[in-house]
Amino acid sequence: MLLTITTTHNPASDLGYLLHKHPDRFQSFDLSFGKAHVFYPEVETNQCTACLLLDVDPVGMVRGKNRNQNFLLGHYVNDRPYVASSFMSVAISQLLGTAMGGRCKDRPELVTQQIPLEARIDVLPIRDGKQFFHKVFEPLGYEVEATRHPLDEQFPEWGESPYYSVTIRGTKTLSELLTHLYVLIPVFDNNKHYFVGEDELEKLLAKGEGWLASHPEKEQITRRYLKHRYSLFRQALARLVEEEEGEPVEDASIREAQEEALEKPLSLNDQRHQTVLAALRGSGARKVIDLGCGEGKLLRELIKDKQFEQIVGMDVSIRSLEHAHKRLKLDRMPDRQAERLNLIHGSLIYRDKRFNDFDAAAIVEVIEHLDPPRLASFERVVFEFARPKTVVLTTPNQEYNVLWDTLPAGQFRHADHRFEWTRQEFQDWANRVAEQHNYLVRFLPVGAEDENVGSPTQMAVFEVKQ
Ligand code: SAH
Repeated sequence: MLLTITTTHNPASDLGYLLHKHPDRFQSFDLSFGKAHVFYPEVETNQCTACLLLDVDPVGMVRGKNRNQNFLLGHYVNDRPYVASSFMSVAISQLLGTAMGGRCKDRPELVTQQIPLEARIDVLPIRDGKQFFHKVFEPLGYEVEATRHPLDEQFPEWGESPYYSVTIRGTKTLSELLTHLYVLIPVFDNNKHYFVGEDELEKLLAKGEGWLASHPEKEQITRRYLKHRYSLFRQALARLVEEEEGEPVEDASIREAQEEALEKPLSLNDQRHQTVLAALRGSGARKVIDLGCGEGKLLRELIKDKQFEQIVGMDVSIRSLEHAHKRLKLDRMPDRQAERLNLIHGSLIYRDKRFNDFDAAAIVEVIEHLDPPRLASFERVVFEFARPKTVVLTTPNQEYNVLWDTLPAGQFRHADHRFEWTRQEFQDWANRVAEQHNYLVRFLPVGAEDENVGSPTQMAVFEVKQ
């Protein structure tokens, strides 16, 4: 993929100073995902062009990844090497970081100068249509152009691809242009290659300073940039609102859209609890135990529903139970409600009479924390001894991890996971357990389903055979 930056500023060769890259040299750099090259195809007094060419190594990207998993063609055959994605942002920050930061040792007076600039990207995947591209760049004062490519020129009947050659033009400082590209290129990308963490939020807020808060598409930009991380998205919005409040204009429609955006998407965690809740409701259970309740998120939902007359949360971690106690405000809960809920300390691998006599048990994202040799004890503790009529159990679907492309290669979603199962492995295990202990089992997806790899979380609902 190629990023081309052209200026008609006079003298145009100032671009070399601004980029900290000498116009006469062809320079190559090694990055963790491949190579990047910077060169100048054109250096005239009235026009100068610099290119950043990214050569992503698709094999290197998957080296060492999921070694014990079946071969997945998608690891090797994908669009990563050819499209501008978050890799491009990483390259911009690593190779052109000084320019993006607005520093120029030799000619400091240049960095604040707004000059005519044009950036062209070959190619940018825009899956939501060209309109979105316009909506993102035009409010920042760019003139934009986007040309769509057919899937294959030799087979026009295959139709259009989601890939575009795009150009943005404006009078900006180079630092502004690079910052906009750095933040906005990944917004079009469906597959961020790195794990989005706290520091991504800080980066977004730092780089978005001065323009993102007032951008009409700030919700979309923020949500997509912080993909999969709803809480980060919320924090970011809250802070962008603070920044914006310093400004005189109050735009009610932005606020409404923002509220809607806040309420609409559910995090995977929330979806999981809602799905489990629905299964528990459907089972008709009145007495429910949440085994491995953690900080009590599901308990908080259960307590709101009067169907559940007796609710117990159990966990092996005292710290989690303390958090649950705080989160549920057990101290301040009205007596009648507090009587319905109990927290107990225990372990899923020891038989425990306190787990008996429940209509249903929820075991949400817990079994993958158990050492495989302990699974046999766990099975007996739950299905042989406690023996609730219904067991609702969830665990990650390992196959889905490839969509978090870059959840560091071959690793589990959580440092404490001892295993993550494919759909087949989970169903084999659950079918065997059901058979052995006389339960019926059915499987349900949790979270958006991908046609190839399924949903991010998998759920089994076991019902005692009558
Ligand atoms: N069910 C919760 C928490 C999931 S995290 C939720 O959906 O939010 C996994 C939890 O399992 C942690 O709180 C951990 O302390 C607990 N856990 C791990 N091993 C356990 C065991 N042997 N017995 C009981 N709980 C266990």
